[in-house]
Amino acid sequence: MSWQGILGHDEVAEAFRRTLERQRLASSYLFTGPDGVGKRTFALKLAQTLLCHRASPSEMAPCGECASCQQVMALTHPDVEVIGCPEDKSEFPVRLLIGEKERRNREGFCYNLSRKPQRDGRKIGILDDADMLNEEGANCLLKILEEPPPRSLLILLSNNVSRQLPTIRSRCQILRFRPLVTEDLETLIRQTGVADERAKQLAGLGRSGLTETAAWAEESFWDFRGALLKLLAETPPPVERLIDCVQSFVDHDKPSPNERRRRMHLAFREAQRFYRDLLHAVISSPERVPLADRENDKMLSAALARATDALLASGRETATDSLTQIIARCLAAQQQVSRNANPGSVIGCWADDLDACLLQRA
Ligand SMILES: [Zn+2]
Repeated sequence: MSWQGILGHDEVAEAFRRTLERQRLASSYLFTGPDGVGKRTFALKLAQTLLCHRASPSEMAPCGECASCQQVMALTHPDVEVIGCPEDKSEFPVRLLIGEKERRNREGFCYNLSRKPQRDGRKIGILDDADMLNEEGANCLLKILEEPPPRSLLILLSNNVSRQLPTIRSRCQILRFRPLVTEDLETLIRQTGVADERAKQLAGLGRSGLTETAAWAEESFWDFRGALLKLLAETPPPVERLIDCVQSFVDHDKPSPNERRRRMHLAFREAQRFYRDLLHAVISSPERVPLADRENDKMLSAALARATDALLASGRETATDSLTQIIARCLAAQQQVSRNANPGSVIGCWADDLDACLLQRA
């Protein structure tokens, strides 16, 4: 049985159940785990649990119907503050935390969290995208972390605990959210309205969370993935066509800068996964142990089979070296995207380097 319909995180729920029974709730938590596994949903359920008018927190069974429960879900509860990094920003704006310059420390997330709860429960602050906090932003939170306001609870949501500054990590209780298992992921994808067959395919991609998986549900994205894999199957891939393919996916329908970044991430990550799988295939051949989740992924299987044969012609050791370099190069490209590098040059240099890594073997 999953707690409150939240799939895959019974262990975390159980940890909170014990904590609440003993009335040992900490004042700050860092929820960490892959994007799209349900950290935010869990945090909101926890807020409902703590504020429900009908059920006591230790029951861990918010009614979902009282005014308080409904306001939490509608994000209108006066004692629940939820913020995230705005779409068009690559770092968390300080003004959201401590207010505009002329109203410093008189508005914003930290100020609101430090005020008395309007009702008799607690003040709960949920900060999404905590990975986007820069040092200044993290410092804004320090006061709350070091001297938590009475009856306050701060929950930070992070995809990658290693991206949190030590100042934050050391002051929060860290709870790890696991990647979702395929069946749970499939159920969640279906709940977003994706047809059964495609939901199965998407869940089989072997991703850890809903966000990244759901991105591919869009038909044009799926088509791009097919085109990309076909190009990557050629070793080396044709540079100009590869650049065109990625660039037109990234620019399709004139997206916002953030959407553009998101697509670049998706594209480079997809390429990285392909080369990682290819490395596995090259190392394990000729036995070629097929991964279970490839069964539904004909595009990937075909591309892998083709590239494996071509690469092995030049010897396993050389192929392994080239692939290791390429995987590192795909990772580097993702980091460049995070640092806001110019999209055109990131894509161009990446494609050139792929070509160079694969030509070396000749
Ligand atoms: Zn309730």
